[in-house]
Amino acid sequence: MRDFSTDHRWLSINTATVRRQRGEPWPLPRILDACAARGIRAVAPWRDQVAAVGLGAAAAQIKALGLGLSGYCRGGMFTYTDDASRQAVRDDNRRALDEACTLNAPCLVLVVGGLPGALAGTPAHRDISLSRSQVAEGIAWLLDEARARRMPLAIEPLHPMYAADRACINTLAQALDLCDALDPSCSGALGVAVDAYHVWWDPQLPAQIARAGAGRLLAYHVCDWLVPTTDLLEDRGMMGDGVIDLPRLRGWVEAAGYAGYSEVEIFSRANWWQREGGEVLDTCIERHRRCV
Ligand code: ZN
Repeated sequence: MRDFSTDHRWLSINTATVRRQRGEPWPLPRILDACAARGIRAVAPWRDQVAAVGLGAAAAQIKALGLGLSGYCRGGMFTYTDDASRQAVRDDNRRALDEACTLNAPCLVLVVGGLPGALAGTPAHRDISLSRSQVAEGIAWLLDEARARRMPLAIEPLHPMYAADRACINTLAQALDLCDALDPSCSGALGVAVDAYHVWWDPQLPAQIARAGAGRLLAYHVCDWLVPTTDLLEDRGMMGDGVIDLPRLRGWVEAAGYAGYSEVEIFSRANWWQREGGEVLDTCIERHRRCV
């Protein structure tokens, strides 16, 4: 296992981690400058942050600062209710792929969607199996587009508490079953993003990480699970403040052949988003050395 204790060369910052400091948005250019100034080598930007500054400007700044990406957030949300909404999903995912290519991302991360309409509070039905079949259909379609652009797709299984509104793929086994069905040769075009927050509880986790292997492990996200957790979405903990055995998890991921970045992804409305962004980044660096 790599030694992270002496430097932070394998640290990446998911830009949501410092997006809303003290209630004020930190725009992407400021985040990128603050990361580069600290010797952070990689980031994972969100589409809305890129759109706010403009794709060309974001790509130019990332290049000028010598930053890499650990992923691009995000595509997906494949579930639909009619032909028009299916087409809208496809168009949006095609744009996400093109943006990922422009930004030189190593993969487009997919949050696959739950029951259509649920995120807005009005689920169209109760048939989660229908949603899962639409997700499989959507990824199968997107995979052709992704292959044409040589942009790998990383399916991110989300914790089951998000099954209704964000993602009906909830375990690593489920994500890998889909990978095996759609890309049986393990071509490199389709894999998974393993986020410690979503999968740490899963008794099958070590076996499924080993099953994934280097060929499917496209991204690795870290934060911590707080006890108690006070918000289902925006109460993620800083590494070391919760109950996830992060070094053990990274040991499994690296034993399976993963050698990429550890991407810190923290949504924390009441705590880390209330602090000065530089303090948050400095804490990420320190915890990455000590707790990841
Ligand atoms: Zn994640």
